[in-house]
Amino acid sequence: MKYSLEEVVNHLKTQGFVFPGSEIYGGLANAWDFGPLGIEIIRKLKNLWWKFFVTKSKYNVGLDSAILMNNNVWKASGHLGNFSDPLLDCKKCQTRMRADKLIEEKYPNINCGGWDNKQLTDFINNEQIACPHCGAHDFTDIRQFQLMFQTNQGVLQDEKSIVYLRPETAQGIFVNFKNIQRSLRKKLPFGVGQIGKSFRNEITPGNFIFRTREFEQMELEFFYDPADQTDWFSYWVQQVKIFLTTIGLKSENYVLREHDPKELAHYAKRTIDIEYKFSFGQGELWGIADRGDFDLKSHSDYSHQNLSYLNPETNEKIIPHVIEPSVGVGRLLLALLADSYEVEKIGENDSRVVLKLSPLLTPYQIAVIPLSKQLNEQAYQLYETLLNDFDCTYDETGNIGKRYRRQDAIGTPYCITYDFDSLTDNAVTIRDRDTMEQIRLAISELPAYLKEHLK
Ligand code: ATP
Repeated sequence: MKYSLEEVVNHLKTQGFVFPGSEIYGGLANAWDFGPLGIEIIRKLKNLWWKFFVTKSKYNVGLDSAILMNNNVWKASGHLGNFSDPLLDCKKCQTRMRADKLIEEKYPNINCGGWDNKQLTDFINNEQIACPHCGAHDFTDIRQFQLMFQTNQGVLQDEKSIVYLRPETAQGIFVNFKNIQRSLRKKLPFGVGQIGKSFRNEITPGNFIFRTREFEQMELEFFYDPADQTDWFSYWVQQVKIFLTTIGLKSENYVLREHDPKELAHYAKRTIDIEYKFSFGQGELWGIADRGDFDLKSHSDYSHQNLSYLNPETNEKIIPHVIEPSVGVGRLLLALLADSYEVEKIGENDSRVVLKLSPLLTPYQIAVIPLSKQLNEQAYQLYETLLNDFDCTYDETGNIGKRYRRQDAIGTPYCITYDFDSLTDNAVTIRDRDTMEQIRLAISELPAYLKEHLK
């Protein structure tokens, strides 16, 4: 990411991609709303993910499970016991922060995943790490902070009515494993994909939409027989990389990082994170975890339901193992926008902002532009016709140069200009976003040309 986060965020706010949440009331910390252009990219991104990991996959099916679940789900999954972060406060300025992040931000080469509170405290004291806000080295003891949002279900607000907002979509898949396997008569290996909101009461949300408390995840839980010799973990790492290439994320801007055994989450046997090189530092974009049989075993134990799978060939009962590729929609969107944002010098004293997003993801595929006000009617008719087959916008305000810049800035791959010659030759000019080259084409040939070039 060449440009500062601030510059990219400013652009996204002014162009209508993302707005601060509840802005007219002064906002709500780290809550963001996706505007008309942002939501178009998100819809396309989710559709592409769904197509790749669910509809077009030989193995997988989809699910949409509820956000609120029986509390025993969170006991079995370990979230009620283990899902917490090490929290400390600066005694001088009262800033609250994650102890591990305090260290990692000062020493980017250190990864404290898996350190216990004593190790974290000793390191902070030995290195005399100061509060990043006021510079004091005067912290409270570290305590564990529960990350699940708690609310009450029903009219009574007592211990028994407590429910939690799910912190991941995965558990909805595990508790439905038997339902899906039986009703669809699925044989191993098979996977279940889900897209949905998750909630985590993060101690230090931030970096725009990188870490928020309400976010959306796209998760796949892939179930397989542990006796299967196929290396499914590598297979899904590879599939994720192929997907990232399909959506146009530059491979030089991310790295694969294997977790050290000590930093593995309580459920994981192995994890590889795809980390994107954001301008504020390298951060997890997509986690691929080998969850072994942890989830189905644990849910079998807690629910007293048999979640094993009967192998029809061997007649053997096994607990399937699970590979999980999991990614946040907002994080992936941020990586894509950062990856494609460019300020290009054009000519001596001129520059343009251009969003070089894949045409598969841009809010609009085409902008129809009348050269003069006198041509508005004809151009609008062309816009209405193209709207049947393409995601189009129509822009008649400002001089032609400004309109091209505006479309470059929101990533529209093609601008179609209707001019006075169009009235007689039934042709238009097509301008390419990236090369800025223009060609003349008969209106009758437009749909075929655009379909070919927008693939
Ligand atoms: P981190 O270390 O950044 O807190 P994590 O390891 O807790 O992430 P997972 O539980 O593996 O994250 O979640 C899977 C994916 O969900 C992450 O790779 C990320 O893309 C996304 N994600 C997790 N937490 C958040 C959040 N608070 N805001 C936005 N996206 C998130």
